[in-house]
Amino acid sequence: MVDLSPAGINPIYSLHLLPTMTEMLYMTEGCYLKEFDAKVVAIHEKSVVFDRTACYPDGGGQPSDTGVLQSKAGTAKITHVKKAEGEVYHEIDGPLPEVGETVHVSIDWERRYAHMRMHTAQHLLSGIVYKFFQARTVGNQIYADRSRVDFMPVNFTDADVQRVVAEFDGAIKAQLPVRIYMMEKDKFLNHEEGERANIHLLPPEIKVLRIVEIPGYDMCPCAGTHVASLAELGKIKILKVERKGKDRYRIAYTLG
Ligand SMILES: [Zn+2]
Repeated sequence: MVDLSPAGINPIYSLHLLPTMTEMLYMTEGCYLKEFDAKVVAIHEKSVVFDRTACYPDGGGQPSDTGVLQSKAGTAKITHVKKAEGEVYHEIDGPLPEVGETVHVSIDWERRYAHMRMHTAQHLLSGIVYKFFQARTVGNQIYADRSRVDFMPVNFTDADVQRVVAEFDGAIKAQLPVRIYMMEKDKFLNHEEGERANIHLLPPEIKVLRIVEIPGYDMCPCAGTHVASLAELGKIKILKVERKGKDRYRIAYTLG
């Protein structure tokens, strides 16, 4: 469980904005890139570092991608991707490539797309709960089959949850777009949504934020992967609403 700052801005996501020797393709080329070629720049034990990757590294409540690596040595599984010491490590199960060689990587798309839908759903849910109750998102965990978000301060009644679901369904029906763009940190701070975000948690060297916006609902610095339209979310199903302490509630959900 990762604790988020009030607006859902997440220090771990934000670290994904710090430069690495690996170009993060989902940041520059969009979230729908399923496979890519890359050059192997380093190997640390069973982990490979590429010059570019479309694989999402574990962080901020969104699990890492997995996939398949094809190199001259054969076909291997990418079992986990993580960011550490400014590098993106792809953990490999199978034959290792050689440094300098160009390889082909395919992302396990079913898993990644499920994470994209769940993550965008989390932003919408957070936006709606903030709009109705001024409760902030204080934690979240996304999985492919179910996800959860913690809100504070709030005390949900059954009617409150029904109201949130009705609003969620309405936003889906409206097929609102999900916009991703970069914005200077100082500009975002002057924006009304900037007040919701604890930008001071960010390392000072981050001057530009990646903003994920659902018009009318949420505008949040985030380095995660998202769908392009709410039409891709389908129907939300609330699995559990749980009190997790004074004025703190957790909503667990899945998507139909
Ligand atoms: Zn996010």
